[in-house]
Amino acid sequence: YPSELIRNFSIIAHIDHGKSTLADRLLELTGTIQKKESGTNKQVLDKLKVERERGITVKAQTASMIHSFNGQQHLLNLIDTPGHVDFAWEVARSLAACEGALLLVDSTQGVQAQTISVFHVARERGLKIIPVLNKIDMPASQPERIAAQMQSTFDINPEDILHISAKTGQGVESILEAIVKRIPPPSGHTKAPLKALLFDSLYDRYRGVISLINIQDGTLRKGDKIASCHTRKKYEVTELGIMHPEELPTTSLQSGQVGYIACNMKNSSEAHIGDTLHRVGEPVEPMEGFQPTKAMVYAGIFPIDSNDFLKLEESIKRLTLTDRSVTVTRESSSALGQGCRLGFLGTLHMDVFRQRLEDEYDANVIITAPTVPYKVIYKDRTVLVSNPTEFPEVTDSTSNVKEVQEPIVNASIIVPDDYLGEIMDLCFSHRADSLDHRYLDSGSGSTSSARAIVTCTLPLSEIVTGFFSELKSRSSGFASFDYEEGGYAKSNLAKMVFLLNSRPIDALALIVHRSAQQAIGRAWVKKLHSIIPRQMFEVPIQAAIGKKIIARETLSAMRADVTASLYGGDVTRKMKLLENQKASKRKMKRIGQVDLPQEAFYDILKSK
Ligand code: GDP
Ligand code: MG
Repeated sequence: YPSELIRNFSIIAHIDHGKSTLADRLLELTGTIQKKESGTNKQVLDKLKVERERGITVKAQTASMIHSFNGQQHLLNLIDTPGHVDFAWEVARSLAACEGALLLVDSTQGVQAQTISVFHVARERGLKIIPVLNKIDMPASQPERIAAQMQSTFDINPEDILHISAKTGQGVESILEAIVKRIPPPSGHTKAPLKALLFDSLYDRYRGVISLINIQDGTLRKGDKIASCHTRKKYEVTELGIMHPEELPTTSLQSGQVGYIACNMKNSSEAHIGDTLHRVGEPVEPMEGFQPTKAMVYAGIFPIDSNDFLKLEESIKRLTLTDRSVTVTRESSSALGQGCRLGFLGTLHMDVFRQRLEDEYDANVIITAPTVPYKVIYKDRTVLVSNPTEFPEVTDSTSNVKEVQEPIVNASIIVPDDYLGEIMDLCFSHRADSLDHRYLDSGSGSTSSARAIVTCTLPLSEIVTGFFSELKSRSSGFASFDYEEGGYAKSNLAKMVFLLNSRPIDALALIVHRSAQQAIGRAWVKKLHSIIPRQMFEVPIQAAIGKKIIARETLSAMRADVTASLYGGDVTRKMKLLENQKASKRKMKRIGQVDLPQEAFYDILKSK
């Protein structure tokens, strides 16, 4: 395919606006995949099991299709982007491989928080944007109103907007035509030295790392020797081809094409997203935009049965082969034994990983409360702390800590006018600053109220647990949320430790803002009190900051032996009880003379 017959595009949208459904329809319409019987609703591009279960796209998937237009065959390369705020960087890098994007908006919902953020990423990259209104088959569809919203928000001409139903297929043909007519072909040179952008990678058990690349210039053939600008490592291309939608080997890939390569790359950490590949001996200027993934949320992961650590670690290793954005280090805790400390892009990323891990490892795991990376500034150095156990005990004027800083995000929330007050309250209760709002439209009389966009800064730590679900419940599901990193800011933070019979439980330590220490201390102590089994003696449960006790509950002593009430009763039942006790003894953790089953930590940590 000469460049002028190639189009590289992506579909960008807020979650649930129909990206995967539209991608399926496009693949069907071009005969890339068979049309499925109606009723089945499993998107081809959402390959991972969790993605299907949750209906979200986690990993970008790419497919090429062939479309005849004006009697000429065109090669259309669809680069699917992940649909969640945690994966903003993956969206940006997928777009680097395109010349155009379909901006898909649900005509029953209108412009949402991620519609705005993905639009800006696409515009900054200079992509041709094709606006599309989806779900016009639904009775609640308001195409004129939403078109006006898109005009006022993005300065889009309503005449350029395509109206479709990805579900019924209505209008989808017009998208193929618009892709060919409106999106410019890639501008590379087939004869120039090879320059390829690595924008995603997969892991294959047999062939090792499979990289997805976009050839900017030159031609790549099987057997070619290539090198990475970033690592300087050299490889030989053993296989290459296009995604159609599964891997389809070809003899070469040339400028403008998107495809996959297998080379002798064994470790997925060698495939750096955003890296530039060139031919050995023909160095090129690397493309800009390379940015290593950065973990923003950390948590410890431990097996419920400490004997299972190696099995757990093995499962984690296997999963990180397919998801390089997770960082892993070993961690050991006196309460929970050997475990791993993992870094994630965000909380959804953490939830998805946890679910995949539980599927893979076939058991529940204990995950400690998530922590963001804090900056502890000493007189002579700055330390990044992402584990509460490493946080300095005291941060007052007597310590040598100058200040502590926490990561901040710039948040935007889109919400119907009726819920504006609720959402403002929610933001304030999460330490919002620079809170502001404006209107996206003025509503349409009695049927729907005006939409407001609220912007503010929030500490990242405030949104990692529960913020999203609180936002949804306080707006009856109508609010949408997006954020981007906003640097670091000084903050009044302290390490909170929980004591059992005066002994600290390391795995439960938290970093808290001073303004919330009472509430947090009390809530956790209460929870511990309700979960920890009573002992033969009285046990104080306390929350402490430094030497100061913030909250306390007392676990009263058990009155008598567990089996006492069974005397004279069923002997086999008594035997069984003793047997159970013995079995669980092996998994008991002893803290401050208190025996705690490891399962108790699962219960303590599983919900906030
Ligand atoms: P994504 O999160 O953007 O990938 O959205 P999906 O493609 O998974 O679609 C979200 C939901 O909207 C699914 O239940 C789809 O069946 C539904 N959906 C998508 N497009 C349409 C449409 O045109 N009409 C109707 N009625 N439903 C649609
Ligand atoms: Mg999807």
